[in-house]
Amino acid sequence: MTSPQIVWLRRDLRMADQPALHAAAQAGPVIPVYVLDDERAGDHAYGEASLWWLHHSLENLGKSLGSRRSQIVLRRGDAPQVLAAIADEVGAQCVHAIRHYEPWWKEAEDELRDALGEDQKLCLYDGNYLLPPGAVTTGSGDPYKIYTPFSKSMLERMPPRDTLGEPQTVSSPDHWPESDNLADWNLLPSKPDWAGGFREFWEVGEAAAHDRLDWWTDHVADYDEGRNLPSDDITSRLSPHLHWGEISPAQVWHKLKDKRSDGWKTYAKEIIWRDYAQNVIDQFPDYPRESYRDYDERTLWRNPNAGHLIQQDLECWQKGMTGYPIVDAGMRQLWKTGWMHNRVRMICASFLVKHLLIDWRFGEQWFWDCLVDADYGSNGVNWQWVSGTGVDSNMFVRIMAPLTQSVKFGAADYIREYVPELADMDDDCIHDPPDDLRGDYPVKMIEHKAARERALEAYRASKT
Ligand SMILES: Cc1cc2nc3c(=O)[nH]c(=O)nc-3n(C[C@H](O)[C@H](O)[C@H](O)COP(=O)(O)OP(=O)(O)OC[C@H]3O[C@@H](n4cnc5c(N)ncnc54)[C@H](O)[C@@H]3O)c2cc1C
Repeated sequence: MTSPQIVWLRRDLRMADQPALHAAAQAGPVIPVYVLDDERAGDHAYGEASLWWLHHSLENLGKSLGSRRSQIVLRRGDAPQVLAAIADEVGAQCVHAIRHYEPWWKEAEDELRDALGEDQKLCLYDGNYLLPPGAVTTGSGDPYKIYTPFSKSMLERMPPRDTLGEPQTVSSPDHWPESDNLADWNLLPSKPDWAGGFREFWEVGEAAAHDRLDWWTDHVADYDEGRNLPSDDITSRLSPHLHWGEISPAQVWHKLKDKRSDGWKTYAKEIIWRDYAQNVIDQFPDYPRESYRDYDERTLWRNPNAGHLIQQDLECWQKGMTGYPIVDAGMRQLWKTGWMHNRVRMICASFLVKHLLIDWRFGEQWFWDCLVDADYGSNGVNWQWVSGTGVDSNMFVRIMAPLTQSVKFGAADYIREYVPELADMDDDCIHDPPDDLRGDYPVKMIEHKAARERALEAYRASKT
C-alpha cells in the first residue's frame, strides 16, 4: 500500500475546492489532522466566539469525512511537533496544507519543514484567497499598500483559478493514529451557556455556506443599495464561512460572476478587501498591533489601564450602554450573535476611537474575542482604516456622526431589535431619544459636538 498522506487542516474546513485534500487523496490514503495549537498565536489565540464556531465546523467536517469512512485526527499541542510525530508514526512522506498568512502560521510552516525528516516534505497550496498575497504588484514590482490600485490590479486578473470538486475517493490508512475527542476540548460555553443567540443566527459548516451562497445568488443584485441598511441587511453574511474556509472565495466568485448587476460589481470589490487584508499582513505581520502613522499616541489616546473612568467608558461601549442607540444596537448584536453589520462596525469602531478617544487596539481585541469571523488581517486592517492609523486609512479628522448615520441608513428597526428598551419608540425619536423618554436606557456618554472637538484637539496635540 502507498504511504499515507497527511492533510494539515487549519482555517480550510471544507471538502470541495480544498487543494491540499484533493492532492493528498490522489496520492494515497489520507489522514486529515487538526491540531489545536492555542499558545502559538499569543494575544491572538482564538476568542470565545471563534472557539464556538470552530467546534461546530470541525464537527461538520468530521461528519462529511465520516460518510466517506474517514475522520479527522484531533490533537492538542505544538502543531509542527505533533504533525512531525504523526508523520513518523504512520510513515507519511508528505504533509499537505493550504498556505496561511498569519505570522504564527508562517512560522509554524517553517518549523514543520525543519521538524520533518529528510525523506518527508511539506506541500503547500494556495486556496483560501482569490490570489496569493504578492501576486499583484505595483509597476516597480512591490506589493501594494493602498487598497484602490490593489483592487484595480486584482480585477484585471480575475476570474480566479477554476475550482475543484470534492475528491472522488478519500481512502483510509491501515492504521489511524489516536485522536482526542472533540467534546473534551470544551470549546463550547456551558455555565453560563451564552451561545443561544449564536445558535439562532447561524448554521455552521460547508453545506450551510453553500445554502447561504444559493440564497445570496438571488439577492446580490440588491447589494449596491441594501448593503448600508442594517434594518434590511442585504449582505451575504458569508464572512465566517469564508474565514473558516468552509467555502472558498473562488467558489463564491464563480457562482456569481455571470450576474450583470451593479450589486455584483460592488460585491466583487468587497471580497477583494479580504485579499487586500492578507496582502497587508503578509507585508506588515504586526499590523493588528502597531500603528503606522507619526502620531504621538501617548497624547492621542485615553488609556483604560491608566484610570477607572476611562475603563468605565470602555465597558459602556463593550456592553452597548453608550446612550447612542445605533452604537448600542451594534455592540449588542455583536454580543448576541457574534457578528455585526459592516456599516455598524464602522460606526461603533469610530465611536470608540474618536468619541471616546480610546486606543483602537482595545477595540480590535474586543472584536477579536466576540466575532465569529474574527480574522487577524481583516480585523486589524479595518480597525486601522477607521482610526486613521494604518498604511491606507480614512483620515483621523473624518469623524463619523452616529446620529446622522442612524437616520441616513434607516436603522430604526435594527435598533428596535437589539435595544429592547427602545422597542416602542417611534421613528422620529428612536435615533436620539429625548432624555425624559429614555426610561432605563442611558443618556449619552458625551455629546457629539463635545466629542468631536475633544478628538480634534487631541489630534492636533499628537501631531506637535
Ligand atoms: C472595525 C471592523 C472590523 C472588522 N473585522 C472583520 C473581521 O475580523 N473579519 C472579517 O471577515 N471582516 C471584518 N470586517 C469587515 C466587514 O465588516 C465584514 O467582512 C462584513 O461585515 C461581513 O459581513 P458579510 O459577509 O455580510 O459581508 P458582505 O458585505 O456580504 O461582503 C462579502 C465578503 O467580503 C469580505 N469583506 C467585506 N468587507 C470587507 C472589509 N471591509 N474587509 C475585509 N473583508 C471584507 C468578507 O469576507 C465578506 O464576507 C471588519 C470591519 C470593520 C469596520
